Amino acid sequence: MEKNRLLDISDVMKNIPPERLTNGAQRKLERAYDVSELAHAGQTRKSGESFVQHPLAVAALLAELGMDVDTIAAGLLHDVVEDTQIDIARLEGEFGPQIATLVDGVTKLDKIEEKIEQEHSDRMEQRGKRSRGEREAESLRKMFLAMSEDIRVVVIKLADRLHNMRTLASLSPERRRSFARETMEIFAPLANRLGIWQWKWELEDLSLRYIDPVTYAEIASLIKRRRPDREISIQQHIDILQEKLEEENITGEISGRPKHIYSIYTKMHHKDVPFQQVYDVRGIRVISNTIPDCYRILGIVHGLWRPIPGEFDDYIATPKGNMYQSLHTAVIGQDGKTLEVQIRTWAMHRRAEYGIAAHWRYKEGSQKDSEFESQIARLRSLVEWRRETTDADEFVDAMKTDVFRDRVYTFTPKGKLIDLPIGSTPIDFAYHIHTEVGHQCRGARVNGKLVSLDYQLKNGDQVEILTAKRGGPSRDWLNPALGYVQTSRARSKIRQWFRRQDRKQSIALGREILERELKRLGMGKLSHDTVTQLFDCDSTDDFHAAVGFGDINTQQIAGKISETQTPEEPESYILATPPRPQDIQVRGTGNLLTRLARCCNPLPGDEIIGYVTRGHGVSIHRRDCPNILRKIGTDRLIEVKWGPRVKTIPATISVLAFDRPRLFGEISGIIGTADINIIDVGQSKKKHTTTLYITLEIHNIAELSQVLAKISKLPNVIEAQRHTG
Ligand code: MN
Repeated sequence: MEKNRLLDISDVMKNIPPERLTNGAQRKLERAYDVSELAHAGQTRKSGESFVQHPLAVAALLAELGMDVDTIAAGLLHDVVEDTQIDIARLEGEFGPQIATLVDGVTKLDKIEEKIEQEHSDRMEQRGKRSRGEREAESLRKMFLAMSEDIRVVVIKLADRLHNMRTLASLSPERRRSFARETMEIFAPLANRLGIWQWKWELEDLSLRYIDPVTYAEIASLIKRRRPDREISIQQHIDILQEKLEEENITGEISGRPKHIYSIYTKMHHKDVPFQQVYDVRGIRVISNTIPDCYRILGIVHGLWRPIPGEFDDYIATPKGNMYQSLHTAVIGQDGKTLEVQIRTWAMHRRAEYGIAAHWRYKEGSQKDSEFESQIARLRSLVEWRRETTDADEFVDAMKTDVFRDRVYTFTPKGKLIDLPIGSTPIDFAYHIHTEVGHQCRGARVNGKLVSLDYQLKNGDQVEILTAKRGGPSRDWLNPALGYVQTSRARSKIRQWFRRQDRKQSIALGREILERELKRLGMGKLSHDTVTQLFDCDSTDDFHAAVGFGDINTQQIAGKISETQTPEEPESYILATPPRPQDIQVRGTGNLLTRLARCCNPLPGDEIIGYVTRGHGVSIHRRDCPNILRKIGTDRLIEVKWGPRVKTIPATISVLAFDRPRLFGEISGIIGTADINIIDVGQSKKKHTTTLYITLEIHNIAELSQVLAKISKLPNVIEAQRHTG
């Protein structure tokens, strides 16, 4: 663009193809210009020219790129809402929803941009940091795509940035540098992503000019000085190839490829090669009509000049991520220097030059456009869009950038960008900042306003977390139905917190549960350490905690205990088959008359001991029976164990309840269902309560535990446990 010449609306119009510049389109653009000029009247740019020159230049860039008329009109109006009294509603009234939406989108991006810039310059002051991290830059790029409903908004934003870069000279040096760096980090890659090479290269070259002015000037002057040599050499190669193509009857347009300063710069830096070598590389481009022609031309090139091994890339068969297609090769040219050759079709060329904009430039209005579809599809894969889409028309239809919408982009009060899955809440945000901030989160302010903790964050929200010094997360946060937490990170941190807090309580609770259960089973003397060993727990504390958390229930405990009832050396044990005491054997004394002591009614699983009576054989007691404890030290006690042939054992349970009709019927129902016989029933009544004593023929402790647990749950039952006399 020439300097010092003021633009007018005809500079915009002249770049629009006549078939598209209908009367209606012309009127629309003129009106947009009038509104813009009036709105910006009196404003000037830093350079001193009237402000409207900027929207005019932006619109002209959009027209050159081949964008549709609405986008060009929106380019004329893009700063109107941000800088003047005119609002979106008024634009919508005057220009319709399409243009208003585009302008609104650009305005929103401007706001974000200000925020980023502010944060970035603050940080550079504080830490002297030169550049943001690649990950953060990537988030910012994605945010720009996600923030704009329509990809055309990003295209307008890029035109805006390009013109601002072209006119950057009037700003202070520091301001220019930070602006240029941001362009390099955010906007040039965006242009690249949208495939708009023209703008990408220019944004990069302009940025480099301010980021590294010395190197820039060096490269620029070297290019200038060597231009004649270079142009002669390139023309020579073009002529040779052209002649050969004509011989072979292949159409192809050959041109010299301009070198961009920034690409020379990166080659010098990344590959660490001197300018000479980088610059001596000449480049030509051949554009043909068909893909087969491309490969034939490749063959001709390789026939004319010797190919350099490892320098051939087939981006036609395997396109680059940003939809770029071409054949790339490098050969040793006439003068012994490297010649790079790109070969592509016209369609590929258009896409390479204009990227996504090629859609509007060449295929305006056609909704079923498979090329555009695949472009969007590629774009989508670039930003790791994970959702499946069933209908390809869905996204072509609206040209929306919904595809980028699996993340939401928010800010800390200091302007740091936090990117979270869509649906995230202030709690997710807090946990993302720091685990402790999450635990202490009590409230949140979004854009200065208090919100509830289940508020769903939106793009561009500035989030301030309000914390408490004490306490921790709420259990409600873990309830998915309440929608407090979206990220798995936050969820697991919250769970961890509760685990840690609950452990003490759970240990106490578990101990109590175990004590109660053992007591209910009449095994109160069994040590907790012994029970712990039956489970895969490292310590009794762990075991108690597991019981307290509910990871181990009382049924499992009773089950494990009864498993241990099987004796290891059956032949040397008492074989107790009550109620027939004659079957019980005592170790080392052969067949002795035995009976189960009535005072303590031992059951298999109980620790037992034998007492040799005078003339009545051996009576079997529980080891903790008070009658036995008194006999310790006498020679009448003998070691006995339960034998394997135990079929059933009588066990008496007591059920304390508020009396009611049919209570016994229900209890006996439970017992019957468990396939247990009732041998005897007794009852003792008090004023309001009754105690039933029921003697059962049970097989093991686990069975007893189950029956007792069920009986305990019956209405009116206060307590059901084994009766130990
Ligand atoms: Mn602007």
